Amino acid sequence: MRKTGLPIIRFLNPSSCFNVMTKCNTCKQPISGQAGVVRFSCPKCLKEEIIRCTHCRKIAAKFVCPACKFEGPN
Ligand SMILES: [Zn+2]
Ligand SMILES: [Zn+2]
Repeated sequence: MRKTGLPIIRFLNPSSCFNVMTKCNTCKQPISGQAGVVRFSCPKCLKEEIIRCTHCRKIAAKFVCPACKFEGPN
């Protein structure tokens, strides 16, 4: 009897191209193909992109710019 070699493990990740997950700025939930999602540049510094999901828009949840700490909507 011959010894069985170690199985060759291959890491196949079909979604590896989505390594940058888009998340809601307020609730930090990943957004994947949601309708009604808005993306806009920070109204104050224009450096950061704010992404808001439908839910957070509906409840008018605050967003905070990670760069300048601007809070909105005001
Ligand atoms: Zn949200
Ligand atoms: Zn900002």
